[in-house]
Amino acid sequence: MAALRILLLPGDGIGPEIMRETRRLLDWFSRKRKLSFELSEGLVGGAAYDGEGAPVSDATLARARAVDAVLMVSVGGTKWDNVPRALRPEAGLLRLRKELDLFANLRPAIVFDALVDASTLRPEIVRGLDILIVRELTGGVYFGQPRGRETLSDGTERALDTQVYTRPEIERIARVAFELARKRRNKVTSVEKANVMESGAFWRAVVTPLAKAEYPDVTLEHLYADNCAMQLVRNPRQFDVIVTDNLFGDLLSDEAAMLTGSLGMLPSASLGAPDAKTGKRLSLYEPVHGSAPDIAGQNKANPLATFLTVAMMFRYSLDLGKDAERLEAAVKSALESGARTGDIMQPGKTLVSTTGMTDAVLKALDQAL
Ligand code: NAD
Repeated sequence: MAALRILLLPGDGIGPEIMRETRRLLDWFSRKRKLSFELSEGLVGGAAYDGEGAPVSDATLARARAVDAVLMVSVGGTKWDNVPRALRPEAGLLRLRKELDLFANLRPAIVFDALVDASTLRPEIVRGLDILIVRELTGGVYFGQPRGRETLSDGTERALDTQVYTRPEIERIARVAFELARKRRNKVTSVEKANVMESGAFWRAVVTPLAKAEYPDVTLEHLYADNCAMQLVRNPRQFDVIVTDNLFGDLLSDEAAMLTGSLGMLPSASLGAPDAKTGKRLSLYEPVHGSAPDIAGQNKANPLATFLTVAMMFRYSLDLGKDAERLEAAVKSALESGARTGDIMQPGKTLVSTTGMTDAVLKALDQAL
């Protein structure tokens, strides 16, 4: 089997210490599961600004295009507060997403039984929750033209953003959602505001026939975004895959994430279009959390969001579905053994470091082998 090429981008803050532990995890899979990885490492964010003069260099972008998957941890920190906006750490992440044309953002919200009490919702509402939000990431109101501020001839100031979607943009994000639903519980909820927005009515008019023609086996349901926001806290388990635009996806994925109650547990992936020849998609895998400057360098960070991100990378880019399941099960076992980093600590559990949590996951992997 050809080696699977992964570009590792630790980034800033807690990024390097989490990446160090992630290398131990990948090493376990190469030794015990005989997987062949070709790992390379690059700079992104503030580390890249300091080292290479830009928050992501052209050379790193070229490498990101050439590998099978890119795994990043986090960028940012107060050290770069006074750097010009275009050179800030976050600009590196935005450029990576834009240049690789990563239009599909996947944000799962999974509640582990061991952490069911971390949610602000009652356990009976969130127990067993496993939903996936697919957010369109490169179009819509965050990018639409015209945009800007102006002063009208009567002196009134105004600002303007444009919500715009083309048929191909809607079709490609919908296809991602339907294909993922086929690997899950076969249900897609498409979310917009067809009642009050032209772009919402168009979104619905594009998704409905596409589903009928290409995915008749997947159940499709439509929901207005405000109702979806409500349903997510009323009865979140009714959902399987939710597909929505950039703006609503931004809000709804944060809401869904908080159903789980803990930032240190949330993975994400961003995917591009499939290559015409190989069918492979460009991809960027990253935990949802930031660089946590308040705990950086102290071996306190929770590495589980990144480990669950690795499981997504196994499943969606490396064709290692069974190993993804193996890793997710090990995370679950580690939590059931009582190991907790500070962010998810509960009475009666054992406080562990980043390294300690990794040890617990590796032990669970060994035990399940
Ligand atoms: P943050 O996610 O870094 O931290 C928020 C809180 O959660 C902090 O108290 C932090 O200690 C805690 N936390 C986050 N991840 C954790 C983990 N893995 N384990 C334990 N605790 C964890 O968000 P913030 O404080 O708003 O931002 C800090 C920096 O990160 C900023 O520069 C921001 O721009 C950047 N940021 C980057 C990304 C990214 O790289 N994708 C995302 C969000 C924020």
